[in-house]
Amino acid sequence: MLSLSDYRYITPKKMLNYLSVWYPRSRKKININAYPSHIFLEPTSRCNSNCRLCPSGGGIRSSFPQGDLTFANAKKIIDTNKEYLFSISFWNWGEPLLNSDIFSMTGYAHKCGIKTALATNLHAFHDGMIEPLFACGLDDLNVSCHAASSETYTQYQPGMSFDTLQNAVDLIAQTKRRLRRSRPVIHLTFAITKKNRHEIREMNALCARFRARPNMYYASLNLRFCKNSDEIQKRIEEWTPDPTRGIGMPGKISYYSTAANTGILPPTYSCCTDPFTTMVIRWNGDVSACCTDYHGHALGNALSQDLKEIWNGRSYVDLRRFIVSGGKTEIDPSAPCNGCVML
Ligand code: SF4
Repeated sequence: MLSLSDYRYITPKKMLNYLSVWYPRSRKKININAYPSHIFLEPTSRCNSNCRLCPSGGGIRSSFPQGDLTFANAKKIIDTNKEYLFSISFWNWGEPLLNSDIFSMTGYAHKCGIKTALATNLHAFHDGMIEPLFACGLDDLNVSCHAASSETYTQYQPGMSFDTLQNAVDLIAQTKRRLRRSRPVIHLTFAITKKNRHEIREMNALCARFRARPNMYYASLNLRFCKNSDEIQKRIEEWTPDPTRGIGMPGKISYYSTAANTGILPPTYSCCTDPFTTMVIRWNGDVSACCTDYHGHALGNALSQDLKEIWNGRSYVDLRRFIVSGGKTEIDPSAPCNGCVML
């Protein structure tokens, strides 16, 4: 959703397009005569971490090829869609800082008048990245944290150092203060699990220390697409909070993820909006239904097709019809929406 502080990115054309995206969703229309206002653009599918609830970090094989988005391809996607694009989130699967062109890409999008966000575990971060990080005009920096102590941190990301993470956030926060900059806004992200929920108070204190915003949600959407594996089921049971008890902090932890995690839909919840409002573009241009499609069921390719054409192509329209019908219509059996708890 747009917020007041985003006024700098709004043009009449973008606003008209934005309304054309949201109106069909509210009316449950499956054809959208507009371009997506927001895209996720995957800088790389490679990762340097091993988060226990992520198929990528957990070493679960995907049929999707691994690789990096090139600056030339990022530029092509931005150039052909900048008149309508309001924001780009530079992440999907993989660690964005492993792509050496990441700040050139975010900087180029910023120059084109597009709001930018980056999500990172900061383990590939080094001092030489401070200058391009602040020069590229990034709006939001989302840091994967998931713990408030070294012991808890290494349970979720074995072998990774909590001190390294804290030092990197500290350097960024101090530089931001020194330069008197309001952006990037630093968000610390915590996927709440059975093993870290006792640290919620400390997580908020950590955010206060770095003047960062807490972003908490129940873990996890990620493993649900890796079906038919006892190992995955065991991992989900080991980590995810008891669905019957919850963990408090009402209003701070999203119902969206609660529903995805437990399969229990809260009464106020309405169904998935992803294929109506945003588009996920993998590093090679393939378009996925949503950011949790680990195996990369392609709905088109953003490097060889117009985004509007993909968005109103047969695959996308079938997905939307399937979602609007609550899963009662026919879709490609390999589409990730089959059996998704967000329906
Ligand atoms: S229904 Fe599920 S799989 Fe399909 S787009 Fe929504 S969240 Fe993704």
